[in-house]
Amino acid sequence: MLLQEQPQLASVLGLPVHLLNSYSDWLLDRVQQQQGVHVVTLNAEMAMQAEQNPALATVIRNAELVIPDGAGVALYLKLRGVPVQRCPGIELAEALLKKASTLSPPCSVFFYGAKPEVIEAAAAAWQKRLPGLKIVGMQHGYISAQEQLQLRQRLSALQPQIILVGLGVPRQELWIAEHRHLCPQASWIGVGGSFDIWAGTKTRAPGWLRNNNLEWVYRLYQEPWRWRRMLALPKFAWRSLISWNH
Ligand code: UDP
Repeated sequence: MLLQEQPQLASVLGLPVHLLNSYSDWLLDRVQQQQGVHVVTLNAEMAMQAEQNPALATVIRNAELVIPDGAGVALYLKLRGVPVQRCPGIELAEALLKKASTLSPPCSVFFYGAKPEVIEAAAAAWQKRLPGLKIVGMQHGYISAQEQLQLRQRLSALQPQIILVGLGVPRQELWIAEHRHLCPQASWIGVGGSFDIWAGTKTRAPGWLRNNNLEWVYRLYQEPWRWRRMLALPKFAWRSLISWNH
């Protein structure tokens, strides 16, 4: 039996980041071993939110896997001599779904979040792309307290092995921390706006922007109302500079 790669721990402004050669292999192994995992996809915006939101900071510190999702986080580590490869959360989720669909039997997957028509379209797109994928349920992200109760009951009964939650930051991280006991053996991943991309209602930045750490320019162009939230990026850069010797 192959020994599983152990994550190395790095730190970004006091928050953990786990370093691995293959996040999807590590995660798939955890799924198969039925060892529950909360995956947090850390970027500069989330790191700045965590400074203001102690509950979010605690959830990030307790997560079994924190991946360097954002270019800013990867750059922060690289400038400090930490060998790191950026791993966008959407790509990790995609790689995991692909691998999960080829297993025999395939892992069971649950999708939660986004608008009703978006989650339906995202699930249909995945089912078309990966006919072997076992989507055991889905739920859109705009539900009443009563529907929340039903969702909890469904998750307890279904025990999906992979649960993707796209409610935006920090809602999805706090929701996962509160509910992961329902399916303790599952891998829970906060996927932000990924369902919108898989549904085709939004698009990712072109590769040349992503490769030049300019994904944020595209997000601002696509969603200009995010400008206030994106002030977190220069704030993160400033914090990174003044924490240089820490
Ligand atoms: N969303 C949701 N329920 C809510 C608020 C948001 O399901 O009450 C969904 C929204 O439809 C979108 C995602 O959460 O699909 C948020 O995406 P965003 O790009 O804002 O994610 P972030 O940048 O915060 O990771």
